Amino acid sequence: NDLATLMDVSVNQVISTCMSLGMFVSINQRLDAEAITIIADEFGYDVQFASTEEEADILEEDDAPEDLKPRAPIVTIMGHVDHGKTSLLDYIRNTKVTAGEAGGITQHIGAYDVTTDTGKRITFLDTPGHEAFTAMRARGAKVTDIVIIVVAADDNVMPQTKEAINHAQVAGVPIVIAINKIDKPNANPDKIKEELSKINILVEDWGGKYQCQHISAKTGVGIDDLLEKVLLEAELLDLKANPDKKAVATVVEASLDKGRGYVATVLVESGTLHVGDIILAGSNHGRVKAMFDHKGQKMKEAGPSMPVLILGLDGAPQSGDKMHVMDTEREARELSNKREQLLREQSIRTKKHITLDEIGRRLAIGSFKELNVIVKADFDGSVEALSDSLLKLSTTEVQVNIIHKGVGQISESDVLLASASDAIIVGFQVRPSSSARKLAENEQIEIRLYSIIYDAINEVKDAMEGMLAPKI
Ligand code: GDP
Repeated sequence: NDLATLMDVSVNQVISTCMSLGMFVSINQRLDAEAITIIADEFGYDVQFASTEEEADILEEDDAPEDLKPRAPIVTIMGHVDHGKTSLLDYIRNTKVTAGEAGGITQHIGAYDVTTDTGKRITFLDTPGHEAFTAMRARGAKVTDIVIIVVAADDNVMPQTKEAINHAQVAGVPIVIAINKIDKPNANPDKIKEELSKINILVEDWGGKYQCQHISAKTGVGIDDLLEKVLLEAELLDLKANPDKKAVATVVEASLDKGRGYVATVLVESGTLHVGDIILAGSNHGRVKAMFDHKGQKMKEAGPSMPVLILGLDGAPQSGDKMHVMDTEREARELSNKREQLLREQSIRTKKHITLDEIGRRLAIGSFKELNVIVKADFDGSVEALSDSLLKLSTTEVQVNIIHKGVGQISESDVLLASASDAIIVGFQVRPSSSARKLAENEQIEIRLYSIIYDAINEVKDAMEGMLAPKI
């Protein structure tokens, strides 16, 4: 309706143009930028977007190269359950607290920073596992520079190890391998390295590119070396941020605290956050009343890569939400209202993620280049057969990518990965768990279930040829 008004044509004309392009829309439907451009073009209009999204109300300042200062790497620890993620996080936290800063009560705030023996800082996200990592990524937040994959030397490379590696790789985040529990008599790190090589993770002493360290999260053996390897990886990334501007941060976690009101842990991305700053995070706003580090110590300011607990928001934003410092309270309030409104609209908006039906529409508007697929099946053989056949469907126009494949039930983490990577999930002789099904509904991720491989291949093939009749 708005678009028709802007172009001074009737709504019906716009709707029928949409239909001829394979989009079935209603009068109040929100259209994405891409669709608007194509439709307007049909009416002879050239579209210029004042901003690509509502967010652009907040212009992040560009930095001059000379203003950029080195910042600490942000690290997430991932791996199979019981391989020692929590033990490693705890060991590092307990032994690397900066000298002279003791006194406060260590509290879990979702992230902490340490200073290594060589005087360098590293920030750890304190929610081990790839689910949190991928959930953040699904919300557009990129808050991990390096991933440590923990594998227990007395066990094997397990499904969750592979999954974690996969999630890190899809996100393009460098990996350092930590072979843990090296203190155990039955530890066999060579076996782990061999298993890793089978999934194309070749560690350095095997001639590969992945740094690897034997550690014990129990005795502390190797942990300093592991941190040095992380720092080496960080050096290659040349991580920098401008500390001398209004802060931009990412929400790590937030909750309602009985005594203190809403508390949120944020990780400063760039700029410096100060007590008293007016802030906007997701659809919440407020003023930083007080700020604490993970040792419970009061802070006045926090620079890039620093995690801090802040008091003063009027609600709990979601983890992965961006936080900005605003000039005036009024501006912060107006934007938070606007975002709330947008969220409401979004929840009734049409599908945002890819589905087989959606392919036809995207093909029609010429914006479809890649189909990301996650394959889950009951046996390794069927996983491989299905993945290979799907890969072979790639054409010169559309590339099929199998971003993840595995044996077993479709899990929540599969759905999160699909959401973060705009993928569809194809299941063969498997079903989603009930929590995965619910999440898929919320995230609007398409899960296609098949019991005949041939059907799966044919449906994807038809969709890619734009032949699948849309279901209305
Ligand atoms: P997570 O599930 O990956 O977080 O694993 P945890 O950190 O909870 O560790 C699982 C179990 O392994 C716990 O009982 C730990 O005490 C034990 N553990 C972790 N690291 C080591 C280690 O280096 N050596 C030994 N012997 N035990 C460890």
